[in-house]
Parts: sequence; structure tokens; C-alpha cells
Amino acid sequence: MNQEPTPAANAIDRLIGELNKLPGIGPKSAQRLAFYLLRAPREQTGLLADAILTVKQQITLCSTCCNVTDTDPCPICRSDRRDRSMVCVVEQPQDILAIEHTGSYHGLYHVLHGAISPIEGVSASDVRIKELTDRLQDGTVHEIILATNTNLEGEQTALYLNQILLPLGIRVTRLARGLPFGTELEYADDNTLTRALEGRQEL
Ligand SMILES: [Zn+2]
Repeated sequence: MNQEPTPAANAIDRLIGELNKLPGIGPKSAQRLAFYLLRAPREQTGLLADAILTVKQQITLCSTCCNVTDTDPCPICRSDRRDRSMVCVVEQPQDILAIEHTGSYHGLYHVLHGAISPIEGVSASDVRIKELTDRLQDGTVHEIILATNTNLEGEQTALYLNQILLPLGIRVTRLARGLPFGTELEYADDNTLTRALEGRQEL
């Protein structure tokens, strides 16, 4: 039964294996994508392979905000249209995309690249907190908005940051954690409802 796989089948297995490692791609989807790529024109697969390699070669971290960028400083840090007195702290670069998409924030950002999690052995020195405190030294920043996730790790990180930022005399705020738009109160869980009450604002 232990037949040697043919080289061709081996290559397909390898592609399925690599695709399967991507987030959200299970074995079935990996298989479907692999056979799609096998049938796709060589030019298209070449562009995909090139885009993957280029992103790894050209994308670096902004030396100011730690966002992913192909220029340093990144376009947001470089822009003269941003409010330099505010820094919104997020866990991942894709969180910036979500906030930018709202169009309602015009300050700067700082990307931690993770959250403090004692259970998973991630301490404060494993995320980019020192880079954040370093950039606060010149006194330009007057407010830090903590926009870490509302799960346990995000909350722990926000509490930790609050502790080390308050002594610097900077205003520290946390995103209001409330009800998602369109929610009916009777279906909201206790945690969300409690936080919505705590985060209430003047109308
Ligand atoms: Zn930047």
C-alpha cells in the first residue's frame, strides 16, 4: 500500500499543505484553491507568487508607529494632515484599516503587534510598548486612546498601559465598549450591557 507518490502529486500535496497553514483555510478549501491554481493561467499564478514574495521583501515596520509599511516613516506618520497630539494604540496593523475605514479618526497610531497574555507567556516586553513610551518623550502627544481588543488579553494590555502612561501626565482613554449598532437590549449579554452602561456619554 505504501506507494511512492509521483512527483506531480507531491507538488500538489505540498501546495495544499502550504495553503492549509493560512488562517481560515481548512483542508477542503486548501484543496479547492490548489486545484484552482493548477488550472489557472501561468501568468496569474506568477503574479500571485510575485505579490507574496514582494510583500515579504519590501514591507517593513514604521520606525515610529510600528505599522507595516513600504516607506519609513509610514504615510500616516508622514502626513501633515494628522493630529499629532493623539495616538491610538491597537494590537494589529489590520486594526488601523478598520479605524481608518470609519473616517472619524485623524490622529496617529501605534501598533503593539500583540497583547499581553500571561497564559500564553506573552509579557509586556514581547509587544511594542517601549517603542510607544519612547515616542512620548518629546511631549507632542497629549492623549493616548487604548483601542486594544475587548477580550481578556486586550483588557490586560489596556490596564498595563494605563498604569505606565498615567504617571507621564498624558490623558489616557479607552474606546467606549458598547452595544453593536442594531442590537436589541434583550439579546445583549451581561458583559456588553455592563460596559455599555459604563461607557455612556452625554447625548
Ligand atoms: Zn508610522
